[in-house]
Amino acid sequence: MVELKTPAEIERMRAAGRVVATALHTVKKHAAAGVSLRELDEVARDVLRSAGAVSLFDGYQPGFATSPFSGVICTSVNDAVLHGLPNDLCLTDGDLLNVDCGASIDGWCADSAISFCVGTPRTEDLELIATTESALAAGIAAAVPGNRIGDIGAAIGRIGTDAGVGTNLDFGGHGIGRRMHQEPHIPNGGRGGRGLKLQAGQVFAIEPWFWTGPGSTYLIDNDGWTLRSADRTRGAHAEHTVAITPDGPDILTLP
Ligand code: MG
Ligand code: MG
Repeated sequence: MVELKTPAEIERMRAAGRVVATALHTVKKHAAAGVSLRELDEVARDVLRSAGAVSLFDGYQPGFATSPFSGVICTSVNDAVLHGLPNDLCLTDGDLLNVDCGASIDGWCADSAISFCVGTPRTEDLELIATTESALAAGIAAAVPGNRIGDIGAAIGRIGTDAGVGTNLDFGGHGIGRRMHQEPHIPNGGRGGRGLKLQAGQVFAIEPWFWTGPGSTYLIDNDGWTLRSADRTRGAHAEHTVAITPDGPDILTLP
C-alpha cells in the first residue's frame, strides 16, 4: 500500500527536508583533514536539536542490522559507500566522504545524502560524484505522474552503465512519509515501463550509489553497519526526498 500525501502533508515533509539539508551542508563545511567522523555527527546532532527535529537513524535497527545504529548521520569514507557508522576515524586530505541524514519533525520524515571530497580532490572521485549526481537528477526527472517506478530505476541505471561505474542493486530508494522506509522499493537499475504507476501525492527517497568499479560486491565491517566495496574501490551516494506533483517532481530536501 503506497501512501498518498496531501499538499499540506508534503509541506510538513519539506520542513523536515530543510533541516536535513542544513545538517548535511553544515557537516560539509566542517569536514576537513583531522576532523573525526564522531565530531561531524555532533555537528549534525546540534543542527537537528536546535530545529526540534528527531533523528531517524539514531537507534534504528532494520532487519539486516545486528545492532542499532548509533549516530544521526551515516559517514562513509572512500571504499565505504553506505551506512558508515560515525567513529573516531579522522579525515585526511583527499578523502571521499558520503554523508546521509534522516530526520522528522512532528512525525513527518525526510532523508537525503551528499558526497564530496575533503581537501585536495582526486579527478576520478570528482567524476564518480558527478555521475552519481547525474543519476539522481535523471531519476528525479523520471518521477512524474504517468511514469512507473521502473522508469526511475532505468533512468538511474542508464547513467551508471554509460559511465562504466560499478553498481549493485541492493539498497535502492524507497517510499517515505510518516516512516523513513515505506513501500515501494526503488531499484537503482532495471527496465523501464514496469512497476507501480506514479501519481501525485507519492513521496520517494531516490538514492543512486556507485563505485568507481569494476566490482559490484561488498563487505560489512565488524561494526555491523559500514558497507564497503569488496575490491576497495571508492563509492559515492546521492539522495533526495522527492514529491510527485501534477507539475512534476518537487525536491523536499533543499536548504
Ligand atoms: Mg538516506
Ligand atoms: Mg534513503
